[in-house]
Amino acid sequence: MGDKSYEEAIEALKKLLSEKGELKAVAAAKVDQVTAELKTTSDDSVERLKQGFVYFKSQKYEKNPALYAELAKGQSPKYMIVACSDSRVCPSHVLDMQPGEAFVVRNVANIVPPYDQTKYAGTGSAVEYAVLHLKVQEIVVIGHSACGGIKGLMSFLYDGTTSTDFIEDWVKIGMPAKTKVQAEHGGEPLGVQCTHCEKEAVNVSLGNLLSYPFVRDGLVRKTLALKGGYYDFVKGSFELWSLNFQLSSPLSV
Ligand SMILES: [Zn+2]
Repeated sequence: MGDKSYEEAIEALKKLLSEKGELKAVAAAKVDQVTAELKTTSDDSVERLKQGFVYFKSQKYEKNPALYAELAKGQSPKYMIVACSDSRVCPSHVLDMQPGEAFVVRNVANIVPPYDQTKYAGTGSAVEYAVLHLKVQEIVVIGHSACGGIKGLMSFLYDGTTSTDFIEDWVKIGMPAKTKVQAEHGGEPLGVQCTHCEKEAVNVSLGNLLSYPFVRDGLVRKTLALKGGYYDFVKGSFELWSLNFQLSSPLSV
């Protein structure tokens, strides 16, 4: 956040507090209190970040000088990974990826939207950069158990009303997965349907990747492969399948 927008936010907070019918002094005290609370929270969180980096630097960075000297020159990751923002599914952690191994995009419900230069430039630019500039060999879209984004997709009504600013519209990209799951498993409990949808939504994203001309080109030239994955952190299992999963049976570990 730039200085200007930060100042504007503070001004807006002061204005909001005073408009709530508070006396000016009370409002000012509230701002001080909020600032003090932020400061306390911030001290703890800053300390956690500092300790984390100190550990990383002494145990990883300084113990692998050759790796970090190579990475200083540039990156050449084999994989692009699309994973959920969920704090429990970090792909670097779950797949033991080292720095330089995977170009990672994380968003709510690990969704790749269809090619759209105006609506989805964020994900689109990541796919473009990974494929055309980094020349990754594999794009792996990884879904996971107990995904809040997928539960939202399965639960939102989509009847013209909205209850979120962004989430309903974003996860709606996975609507073909919801439709399929409701048709095939409509009578089953919501939790079971969500599990099916967590996997089907990965297939929708794999299908959406085909709408990117440079992805199609890479598949035709066989310089690029697409894979779907599913990490179940309740069972501690990981499944992997190819885009055309009729050609290869899923690998389960
Ligand atoms: Zn998720």
